[in-house]
Amino acid sequence: MTMGLKASDQYDVKLNTPRQYDIAIVGGGLNGMALASALGVLTNLRIVVVDKRPVTTRDHSIRIGYDGVDKIIDLIDRCLIQKTPNVKVKEAQGLRAQLHLWRKHNVMTSAIENDLSKFVREKLGMEVYRDETYGVTEENYDAFVASTGASIIIGSDGDKSVIKKVIGAKRVEELTVGHILELKYKVVAKDFEARKPIKGSIQATIAEGWDFETLPKKKPGEAIVVSLHKFIDLQTHLSLLDKRTIDIKGKPTEITKGTPEHAWTMKELEKLAQTNETAKKIHAHITRYFNDHHIGPEDYEKERIVSFPLMIGRSDVIAVIYKGKIVILSGDASSTGVLNRGGNKAFIEAALLCEEIMDYWKTKLAENPKTLPAQFERYKEKCRLLFLNEKWWAVWKNRALVASEFPLKVFAKSLKWTLYLFSIPFRIVLYPFRGRF
Ligand SMILES: Cc1cc2nc3c(=O)[nH]c(=O)nc-3n(C[C@H](O)[C@H](O)[C@H](O)COP(=O)(O)OP(=O)(O)OC[C@H]3O[C@@H](n4cnc5c(N)ncnc54)[C@H](O)[C@@H]3O)c2cc1C
Repeated sequence: MTMGLKASDQYDVKLNTPRQYDIAIVGGGLNGMALASALGVLTNLRIVVVDKRPVTTRDHSIRIGYDGVDKIIDLIDRCLIQKTPNVKVKEAQGLRAQLHLWRKHNVMTSAIENDLSKFVREKLGMEVYRDETYGVTEENYDAFVASTGASIIIGSDGDKSVIKKVIGAKRVEELTVGHILELKYKVVAKDFEARKPIKGSIQATIAEGWDFETLPKKKPGEAIVVSLHKFIDLQTHLSLLDKRTIDIKGKPTEITKGTPEHAWTMKELEKLAQTNETAKKIHAHITRYFNDHHIGPEDYEKERIVSFPLMIGRSDVIAVIYKGKIVILSGDASSTGVLNRGGNKAFIEAALLCEEIMDYWKTKLAENPKTLPAQFERYKEKCRLLFLNEKWWAVWKNRALVASEFPLKVFAKSLKWTLYLFSIPFRIVLYPFRGRF
């Protein structure tokens, strides 16, 4: 297969064949790859995906909600039953089986992106370009669009979407649903597999209040990044932040320590703990967690302790005609920060958009329409409703978590005392025999 799209960081390399693609997808994350795969098996549209990042550079596990995957499976099923023209039956069935498998497990984002990239490249002959030279910027956007020749540009480029900026969209309905403390560290112990320091989520979640990432199975000696989250209140969040002036490239610069940009290390947190009660509690909490899992300072590195507000927000523009092209936002670019459901929402939007693109292509009247076609007006409305649903869910999940913390603590304490009290008669009976066993 020839490389149709050649990119430099300016996207200034002209194509030999203009109008090579029908659709250009910016961003090969969960949304971009799900959309590319669904369109790839269900249509014969010429699609190109560009991503500024090789898949391996970001990796966290996600639990995919059933509804997201089911929406794509349902679309595939309908097309297979209705014998929709251009459907690639074998490949569609393959994609369906893969999605069905993910539906049941925690999956690493890189695994989804890798597998789908491989699938569309190898089974569908689609072009997916991934590295920093393929990054689309506000400056090279026009050159990028010209070099693809596509009439539909999809912004699947995540939370900090460049496509969103290009079309002048803003975040609206922004709200903070809670605050999170995050501990991220890299396990470097050579024998961690044998020792299994991180066993499973349930035990630690109940004992420590940490919400776990599920870890992939890796060979001993392979480094892994562990990421733990804990819901905290605003007061705890604020008291973990510390404004200070540091030297950056010879210039005194004001920073806030404890934010994702300037994380605490364990040593720094320990120092802060001498004067800050919250830091003392958090430091003790993390130390206890490490001790419980037999992790010593020699076993980990690059630990980052940060706290940040959990924000959700929606873009005010989701689909628009911009410079004669249909530009559509999808996934985190359309609404963002719906943590723990974002991946699921990305799949749902991919399915919704795929269906509308199929319908639009079937009835397409003009190559470059002057007003937004009805199909994409419909997509906009569906995204708006989907966001409202997710917003409701995020707000109430957080409220429930905060509310449940107190009764859980009381329950754990009372259970401990009840067990202790029940053990007293046995202790008395066994007292004369002490030291004999
Ligand atoms: C720690 C963590 C845990 C999470 N857990 C869950 C969970 O359990 N369940 C769940 O459903 N969701 C979860 N989420 C949310 C979920 O990961 C996101 O909502 C989802 O990845 C969004 O998919 P997306 O494709 O829209 O965006 P992304 O996955 O962010 O993909 C965007 C892609 O666009 C590329 N890109 C960005 N800018 C450009 C550019 N200018 N040019 C070219 N390419 C560009 C990026 O490299 C990236 O590959 C979690 C998120 C985090 C951070």
